[in-house]
Amino acid sequence: MSTSKVKSTPDFSVEVDGVEGVCPAGEAWAKQQIIEKKIPVFSCEGPCIRGEIARLAANMVAEKVPAYARCCYAEAFLVPYSSMARWTKEADKVIMIDGCFLKCIGRILKNQVDEEKVIHIDTLPLHKKYANLFLMDDVPEAERKQVARQVADKILASLKEEKGAFRTTRPFN
Ligand code: SF4
Repeated sequence: MSTSKVKSTPDFSVEVDGVEGVCPAGEAWAKQQIIEKKIPVFSCEGPCIRGEIARLAANMVAEKVPAYARCCYAEAFLVPYSSMARWTKEADKVIMIDGCFLKCIGRILKNQVDEEKVIHIDTLPLHKKYANLFLMDDVPEAERKQVARQVADKILASLKEEKGAFRTTRPFN
């Protein structure tokens, strides 16, 4: 994939219908993470293979580091009174793992929290695969997991250095 001839847009808003209620499981999960001061780990996700690699890698990263926990981006962004949203906003740091340079979820997240506390990771340069493939099911499950493991290990190594090697700097690219 190339970014050289892509279209672009200025910042824009998306209208979202209001909502009532909470997800009991999501509330319990997020409240526990707030108590334990966990760092939320976001990802984009499939059915695109690049998003699926990001999702799998995010799960692996969060599983490996006790200070991290997976966060639901949809609930955090679209249910603004939820504990998932509160956890995201109150966390000292947020890990954002997107599947490609379009940074779909990262572009929302940076408007929801202090951008300075977001560590943004684009996983595509970490594996350089599947440029012309869309559906995750076109890649065997074992290969998806293997590639995600390699990506997760690279992310963990960078985060361990605590030098913010993947840290996004303005203008968020
Ligand atoms: S960042 Fe890339 S992989 Fe992730 S949702 Fe957007 S287009 Fe798909």
